[in-house]
Amino acid sequence: MIDTHTHLYLSQFDQDRQAVMDRAAAAGVTVMLLPAIDQSTTAAMLGMETRYPNCHAMMGLHPCSVNADWEEELKHVAQQMAARKFIAIGEIGLDFYWDKTFMAEQLQAFERQMDWALQANLPIVIHTRSAMQETIDAVRPFAAKGLKGVFHCFGDGPAMASQILDLGFYLGIGGVVTYKNSGLDETLRQVPLSALLLETDAPYLTPVPYRGKRNESSYLTYVVAKLAEIYGTDASEIDSTTTANACRLFQI
Ligand SMILES: [Zn+2]
Repeated sequence: MIDTHTHLYLSQFDQDRQAVMDRAAAAGVTVMLLPAIDQSTTAAMLGMETRYPNCHAMMGLHPCSVNADWEEELKHVAQQMAARKFIAIGEIGLDFYWDKTFMAEQLQAFERQMDWALQANLPIVIHTRSAMQETIDAVRPFAAKGLKGVFHCFGDGPAMASQILDLGFYLGIGGVVTYKNSGLDETLRQVPLSALLLETDAPYLTPVPYRGKRNESSYLTYVVAKLAEIYGTDASEIDSTTTANACRLFQI
């Protein structure tokens, strides 16, 4: 299994990171992708990547970190990208849930980073909250130019899912699929397995039966079990198909 979205470099794992990595390996998680947030977390993320060769870092500015200093933050992203190669640009996007002060700047930062992704021939990892239609509309012209990527932590309905499939983008599926009343199982009945990626978004969005506790990559097994039930297949097919999907998108 590939955990395509995990923040294992955050301080929530400082006390027991090695044990978390050992449990992930024991559960069959072979590769982990680390999404960037902003300047404050770059050193920890790159440090983790250096220590664990099966972890690959992304670079990008998270929409919730688009504040008054967003131009400075984007400079940092550009400098990092010039200095080395990353697995993707992410996580980037729009978040109108917490704060709408910088909506216009969020869109500018998102579009500029999509432009960079096209130039660098890298996929993008999208964070969107309370802004799904705006995000899809922003991505569309870039997708038409060949941009690829994933809508991380997808939890919307069939109408949005089909727009995303039309863009040729993937849906990142994590713990939410195990939540009662998420409705995601119904939506996924109309989505081919070839469009799905596995992710935890650890330490957040923990699957049942650990909902409410800290999430970690080994809990992907609960997401896989639920997907096997939804798609009427076994865990090994969910694993092999989503792993192939992730390898295709991220060129692993
Ligand atoms: Zn994230």
